[in-house]
Amino acid sequence: MKISFSSLCNKTIGCLIIVSLTVASPIVEPVITKAQTTATPEKPGTAQTSLSIYEMRRELYEKVSIQTQIPWYWLAAVDQYERTITPRSRKKAKKDNQVDRLTSIRFKEGIWSGPINPDPADKNLATIALFGGIGKDASADGAADPADDHDAMFTMASYLISLGYEEEDFQIALWRYYQTDSAVKRIRQFVKIYKTFGHIDPTASAFPLPINSIYTYRDTWGDRRGWGGLRTHEGTDLFASYGVPVRSVCYGIIETKGWNPYGGWRIGIRDLNNRYHYYAHLQGYEKKIEIGDLVTPGQVIGWVGSSGYGPPGTQGRFPPHLHYGIYRDTGTTEWAFNPYPLLQQWEKAERRRSK
Ligand SMILES: [Zn+2]
Repeated sequence: MKISFSSLCNKTIGCLIIVSLTVASPIVEPVITKAQTTATPEKPGTAQTSLSIYEMRRELYEKVSIQTQIPWYWLAAVDQYERTITPRSRKKAKKDNQVDRLTSIRFKEGIWSGPINPDPADKNLATIALFGGIGKDASADGAADPADDHDAMFTMASYLISLGYEEEDFQIALWRYYQTDSAVKRIRQFVKIYKTFGHIDPTASAFPLPINSIYTYRDTWGDRRGWGGLRTHEGTDLFASYGVPVRSVCYGIIETKGWNPYGGWRIGIRDLNNRYHYYAHLQGYEKKIEIGDLVTPGQVIGWVGSSGYGPPGTQGRFPPHLHYGIYRDTGTTEWAFNPYPLLQQWEKAERRRSK
């Protein structure tokens, strides 16, 4: 049994602090399904998993990039975006015979074969073209097959370059394809991450506090909270002293930075899994961090504090802690999920790596 602080908060957050006696929480298995793995522990900021699947994707992106002259990171970004908006259970993927697919690009019915094509599963190049479909054959087997990774990626690349080779042309093509600003924004963010860091493993992680610092946290998901009206706690509070470094848990891009009446000095980071990582109540920011900047797992972004619950600069209304929240964008909606199991997983992985 241990004494711990907990609090009540959400995305726009503040935390009502309570002190309670708790039995140490059991280890919880991760809730997020990871990409294919053969775990090889590495230091923070690098991949935890075998890169074979990423290497194979890389080959595909580069092959299509050579064929179409579109930079590989645009292909990687679109493919990864599709992966995040079409989360599939392994069971369902298996049923659809898509377990071994390299790309996640899925074309809506009618787009591939043509909107008025009587055969929605048409693979014939001549009739697809006749009915205004975009399906192409890149693998030179004479069939335009959306289930063929090479055909699918090449077709998407051809669509992206259909208006020209400037970044703006790609963006307009993307807007036409997805019909939402958020898709274009996300893909541009992913492009920046891939362009800067190269072919990275999007599951690489770090614990948000240095694991050799003194901290405590427990599962407070869904607790009630008080300040600023009744809300439930959408996150985990990690209690630590003022000034303990706060670190990015992932590769990502700074999406939000500044004061929020609930969260105080807070920062939001978007990762390649289309997750938004929210760090609140900071004492301050690492001085070079700005919106649009890229971060790596373990990179310091700020310091533990007690800011929030009032106008800019308010602090000390509760014990210092990091409020960490995580939100998932599925392309149409964004929702919070409990970060506690992930925090435990990241902490464990980092302790293993540091041995
Ligand atoms: Zn909190």
